[in-house]
Amino acid sequence: MKIAVVGAGAMGSVYAGLLGAAGHDVWAIDTWREHVAAMRERGLRVEGASGDRTVQVHATTQAADAGVCDLVIIATKAMQVPQAAASAQPLLGPDTVVLSIQNGLGGPDASAQALGRERVAVGVVGGFGASMRGPGHAHHNGWELVRLGELQGPLTPRLERIAEVWRSAGFRVKCFDDIGQLVWEKLICNCAYSGPCTVADCTIEEVMQDPDLAAVSGDCATEAFTVARAKGIRLDFDDPVAYVREFGAKIPRARPSVLLDLKAGRRSEIDVINGAIPRVAREVALAAPVNRAITALVHARERQLGCA
Ligand code: NAD
Repeated sequence: MKIAVVGAGAMGSVYAGLLGAAGHDVWAIDTWREHVAAMRERGLRVEGASGDRTVQVHATTQAADAGVCDLVIIATKAMQVPQAAASAQPLLGPDTVVLSIQNGLGGPDASAQALGRERVAVGVVGGFGASMRGPGHAHHNGWELVRLGELQGPLTPRLERIAEVWRSAGFRVKCFDDIGQLVWEKLICNCAYSGPCTVADCTIEEVMQDPDLAAVSGDCATEAFTVARAKGIRLDFDDPVAYVREFGAKIPRARPSVLLDLKAGRRSEIDVINGAIPRVAREVALAAPVNRAITALVHARERQLGCA
């Protein structure tokens, strides 16, 4: 299959490298010039839980170089999706499927706005712990599961075909009829730890063990849960605090990416994680003051540290 990965950063490089290694015709498209140059010169190295290999993929900063693809994976951070998706127009033919894989809320909707709702499918990924070691070189700690669903409506044959492509590269994949449920289940966990760990500069375990931080974390999760239920999102649990503590107990030493971004001086995805909850709360005539306050505190830290 001819596949473009738009945003071949930490996660996009893992997708591009493993799909390329499985024999697919892969284009890695990224605005990071040094990374594109390195992939052209030396190939794309992906090491970590899946092994260590260097793969020859096509690499470019310009989607027009790739032309029409069967599958376009949008793998930028959420706030980069509007621009990345708009630049992906030359990759689209009549049957091209766009798979948008971001944490938080709104990435796939931004892809849909730029490229057409009917084309868009959604990915929810977890347990990868991916990072860039340098241009042309990505690392990942795990590759637990790729969850796929259509943006609108139940599972389709085209999505099952795409799932097979991912499986051919060794990924574990599950398809779901209701991806909204998965997006929100992950979002509730992210709300519990992204903001609180960042504000307190600590691990998930430290948030769970500190009585004040644990209370704030629980409130973030409970607000997100209440908003999701009010929006009509199906959730298979009734106790959000127990749910996020069970999640946190599996990755106690982890530091959420929002905290890692802050420390690296990069703009984080806080606005689509904790920051999304008050926005959606307004749509259903609710408020989410704890998530609002946590988001404001993270913004203030980002300004102090000059994150861009
Ligand atoms: P990243 O910052 O490493 O990669 C994003 C890439 O997109 C960068 O290389 C950047 O140069 C590129 N980019 C930005 N704007 C672009 C544009 N207009 N056109 C083309 N490329 C552009 O981020 P990441 O860690 O790979 O995360 C991607 C998404 O996956 C995020 O939503 C993140 O929350 C989610 N996620 C990441 C992990 C992980 O382990 N890193 C795990 C689960 C989910």
